Amino acid sequence: MTSLDDLLTPALVLDRARLERNLAAMTARMAGHGVALRPHMKTAKSAEVARRAVAWSVGGITVSSVAEATYFAAEGFRDITYAVGMVAAKMAPLAALMRGGVRITLLTDDLGGVATLDEAAGALGVCPELLIEIDTGLGRAGLAPDAPDIVTLGQAIENAPNLALAGVLTHAGHSYHCAGPKGIRAVAEAERAGLVEAAGALAAVGLPCPVVSAGSTPTATFAERLDGVTEMRPGNYVFYDLDQVGIGSCAVDDVAVSVLASVIGHNRARGTVLIDAGALALSKDISAGEFFDDAGYGWVFDAECTSRVGGAWVAEVHQEHGIVTGPGGAPAPFAALPVGSRVRVLPNHSCITCAMYPSYHLVVGSGAIVGEWPRINGW
Ligand code: PLP
Repeated sequence: MTSLDDLLTPALVLDRARLERNLAAMTARMAGHGVALRPHMKTAKSAEVARRAVAWSVGGITVSSVAEATYFAAEGFRDITYAVGMVAAKMAPLAALMRGGVRITLLTDDLGGVATLDEAAGALGVCPELLIEIDTGLGRAGLAPDAPDIVTLGQAIENAPNLALAGVLTHAGHSYHCAGPKGIRAVAEAERAGLVEAAGALAAVGLPCPVVSAGSTPTATFAERLDGVTEMRPGNYVFYDLDQVGIGSCAVDDVAVSVLASVIGHNRARGTVLIDAGALALSKDISAGEFFDDAGYGWVFDAECTSRVGGAWVAEVHQEHGIVTGPGGAPAPFAALPVGSRVRVLPNHSCITCAMYPSYHLVVGSGAIVGEWPRINGW
C-alpha cells in the first residue's frame, strides 16, 4: 500500500514532518528553560512517537494507563511516571514491571491510602516511588499548595517501609480555557509557584523532593519562567488539534493528525454532505467550540490536508455518519466534495480521536504513505 487512496476509510493519518517539527520545538523550548522534558504519552500512545519525543531530552516518559506502562516497558522504556492517582488493586502489573528493572513512579494525594499501597507493594516485593499530587487550579485532584496535609502525607510515605517519596506533581489543565498567551502565562506561573511552594514545604521539614513535575501543552508552551521545576510533561503538543489552535498553542498547519474520510452522499434538501466519519471516527468531543463557532466535530480539509474546503465543518455526528455543512449555515460545497472523493478532518481533541484507532498511517506532505505505527489503546 503506497497511497492514501488505497486506505479503507475512516483512517487515522499522521503527518511525520509536522510531528517532527512539533517535537523539535518543544524539546528546544524545554532545553531553553533548563528543565527535563518527560512527554506524556497519553496522546500518542505509540513507541515510535515516544522514541522520537525523548531522543533529544534527558527524561523518561509519562503514561495514563497500566496498559501504556506495560506496552512502553516492553518497548524498552525504563523510566515511566504513571500520572493518575494510584490504588492498590493496580499494583500487581506495575510491580511486575518494577521487578523487571523499570522505574515506575506513582501518584497519590490520599493519606488514607498509604497503608494499603505500602502493604500491596510489600506483598509484591517492590518499593515504588510516589509523587504527591498538587492542585494548582484545575480542581480535579491533588492537595492545595499550602495544605498542611502535604507534609503529613510526605511523612507517611517516607515512614512506610515499602514506599519512597519522589516529590510533587501538578497539571494545570485549566489552561485549556484560556484564549491566548496572556491568560496562559498567568496559569503557567500559578502552576509553577504552587508546585514550588509545595516542594518547599517538604524540604522545610527535611523530606526528600527530587522531582518537581509540572506541565500541560499550553503552559509548557507559554511559561515565562520554570525555576524550581525539574521536569515538564506536555503530551498533546506532539499532534496538537483544533482546541490547541483556539487556545493559541499552535497554528492550524501544526496539527499533525487528521481523519481520512470518504464523501458518501449529498443531501441537497438539507444542504449537507455526508462523510463516513461519525462519532466513532471523530469522537463527540466539542472542546474547540469554546473558541470557534464553526468547530463542530472538526474542520473539513482537502485530501492533501493543505486547505479547508470552502469553510466546511462537521456539524453533526451519528455513529458512522458525519454531516458536513458550510460556513454560517450555508450549504456544504457540493461541487468540491463529489461522492467518492476524500477529505481530511482536523479533530477537536487529538488525544480522544486517536484513541478510536489501532494505528497511524504516516505521510510526509503529499498522499504517499511512508509507514504505519501501532498504538496502545485500552487500560
Ligand atoms: N500530566 C497530566 C497529569 C495530565 O493529565 C495531562 C493531560 O491530561 C498532561 C500531563 C499533559 O497535558 P497536555 O495534554 O495539555 O499536553
